[in-house]
Amino acid sequence: DIDELLSDGIKATPPSFVRSILKAASDPEVTSFAGGLPNPISFPQEKLLESMERVVAEQGAKAFQYSATAGIDELRQWVADRYNHRFGTDYVADDVLITTGSQQILDLLGKVLLDKGDGVIVEKPTYLAAIQAFALNQPAFYEVELTDEGLDIDELNAALDAGAKMIYLIPNFQNPTGLTYTAEGRRQVREALRGRNIVVVEDDPYGELRFEGESLPYIGGTNLPHGVVMGSFSKTVTPGFRMGYLLTKDHELLRTVSIAKEAADLHTNVFSQYVVYDYLTHNSLDEHLVKIRDLYGAQARAMVEAMAEYFPAEVSYTVPEGGMFLWVTLPESVDTMELFDKALARNVAFVPGAPFYAEPGARSTMRLNFTNADEDTIRDGIRRLAEVIAAALDA
Ligand code: PMP
Repeated sequence: DIDELLSDGIKATPPSFVRSILKAASDPEVTSFAGGLPNPISFPQEKLLESMERVVAEQGAKAFQYSATAGIDELRQWVADRYNHRFGTDYVADDVLITTGSQQILDLLGKVLLDKGDGVIVEKPTYLAAIQAFALNQPAFYEVELTDEGLDIDELNAALDAGAKMIYLIPNFQNPTGLTYTAEGRRQVREALRGRNIVVVEDDPYGELRFEGESLPYIGGTNLPHGVVMGSFSKTVTPGFRMGYLLTKDHELLRTVSIAKEAADLHTNVFSQYVVYDYLTHNSLDEHLVKIRDLYGAQARAMVEAMAEYFPAEVSYTVPEGGMFLWVTLPESVDTMELFDKALARNVAFVPGAPFYAEPGARSTMRLNFTNADEDTIRDGIRRLAEVIAAALDA
């Protein structure tokens, strides 16, 4: 019986609900707001092909050989420069670790920091694959309510007093809610964390996808001693290459994360690193980003307008300034896990809220993705979803 052979860690780790429903949602008849896929417009395929050819010609065997765990120096320097340009920070290449997707960072940080029962503070709700990555180490999850401004500060202080080793935050266009911390919200969280011995992880794969408003500085980043910022090329260039990175000035922490990475995979795919670096230096990422932001901004507006028109008045929703998702809250009588099947029968799919909470329970929330359907399809899908919701409220 394999069950007797499995580790406690894997037994404590839930499967990804999103990945399990993607099959149902991929039926061409279904309007899917369930996935988390970037729109293929964001993949610069022809330019990447040019880069691949140049990399083979110019780097030769280097692009096919084993390489350094930290990543290639050119790309680490590029990442540092980009953050310094955007935020006025003073990162150097040695502050950067290139990883196999930013997802790997969650796995590595979990291994480096968390023993069974150790506290990790997460947003309520949070990114479900972060819950998975941390769950392998069987930590104690402390959920802190996410608000329109940032975090509930009383809950945050209570969780900090209970003693946590790490706090995991998604400050921009959060997955799943689409919420962004305000400048004041960031300041309050920073002040609550100041003087505490805790690793402050800010996961920011969507930061460059802002279609409204101005970028805001990180809470920790270079402001707090154990600040870690996570980034990714998945939403800006391609998720298929699995290219992510972390930035931190805490080199003692970085050294341990690098050891965990050596153990996990020796180093990140080096051909992909050279290709992405070549792409970034031969093309304008900023021009490419304008296309993505314009598209996602229009799609988000179409979804918000359709919700305003069709959703029953008791239903509330977030209005994101960027990213790929928004969040819908229904009256508590509605369990969105049950609503999922009814919506699928009307050929519309969403992700029920439950898997985004570290503590289990029935929920009346749902995540909607707006990046993978055109505006007319979004409008029509929201109309059908509204009918399913209205029927559930009447029942
Ligand atoms: N963090 C968050 C909040 C995400 O939404 C995602 C992608 N869905 C990731 C991390 C992982 O992205 P990747 O590994 O492709 O960089």
